[in-house]
Amino acid sequence: QNVELKVEGLKKYFPVKRGIKSVLKREPPRFVRAVDGISFEIRKQQIFALVGESGCGKTTTGKLIMKLIEPTEGRIFLRGKDVSHLKSKDEVLKYRKTVQMIYQDPFSSINPRFRVYDVLEEPLIIHGVGDSRSEREELIHRALELVRLTPPDEFVSRFPHMLSGGQRQRVAIARAIILNPEFVVADEPVSMLDVSIRAEILELMRKLRNDLGLTYLYITHDLSTARYFSDWIGVMYLGRIIEMGEVDRVIDNPLHPYTKALLEAVPEPDPERKDIIKMLPIKGEVPSAINIPPGCRFHPRCIHAKEGLCNVKHPETVEFERNHYVECHLAGSV
Ligand code: SF4
Repeated sequence: QNVELKVEGLKKYFPVKRGIKSVLKREPPRFVRAVDGISFEIRKQQIFALVGESGCGKTTTGKLIMKLIEPTEGRIFLRGKDVSHLKSKDEVLKYRKTVQMIYQDPFSSINPRFRVYDVLEEPLIIHGVGDSRSEREELIHRALELVRLTPPDEFVSRFPHMLSGGQRQRVAIARAIILNPEFVVADEPVSMLDVSIRAEILELMRKLRNDLGLTYLYITHDLSTARYFSDWIGVMYLGRIIEMGEVDRVIDNPLHPYTKALLEAVPEPDPERKDIIKMLPIKGEVPSAINIPPGCRFHPRCIHAKEGLCNVKHPETVEFERNHYVECHLAGSV
């Protein structure tokens, strides 16, 4: 069904550094279970939002897909090809040409000493695209036009400090698309921008999806932009996707108590406010990913938790309705 990216049972555990006492006591090694067995598919030209609080594993998932880190377990397929463990540098380089990333911070993701021209020429040189300077210049101009930094001549010689936050993020997007990728991981691409220009940048990214046939993994803590921008949503909690489905199904009929709490926490858009998520209307803090609670990992915070069930048995993921999956023993009745 035109599946662009498929992730199967993906895990990433980071070892916790042990103190000398722990080594002497021969305590078993401990791990941060950042991503703890997630599976999902993204179809061609779909925008899939991975939503959750910080520390839930969404950025680690993005890094795994970008091949910036290796998975502990599980597999990643790009257009049916297993890319979980690329061996040679050549393979990684080839992969990075088709899978690109847009980072959260347009201020630090662009070298401040590079002019816009150099920022955009660098990936072309690394990947050997464009035989001559004039060919590369043409590609750079086209990329700037695509992100609507026009006329391109006005922008190529500017340094990043001569651009606004929104313009810098447009340059970062131009750099991501200049190699003509098929898949883009966008990690909080608008959360550091002024509220007034967030919709503009997301609108631009959507237009590029349509015009260039891109597919996105959109990583965000902000359900309101996920709702506006994406086709599918996966809600992450402590390394698991606890609810996933078509955006309208998840937003209009949330099944998991955590998704419901996140939705209740989304404030009305208010340009005066910098914080997006209010205090969640659920009890306690997110537990550490080193000591994940047994049973349903959300049970210590869940107001519906059932003693003898939720605290002992891990809920399997079920397709509750068409294109709507959930991981909760009591889905549909809470
Ligand atoms: Fe709450 Fe139990 Fe569902 Fe977990 S499985 S979310 S504890 S009701």
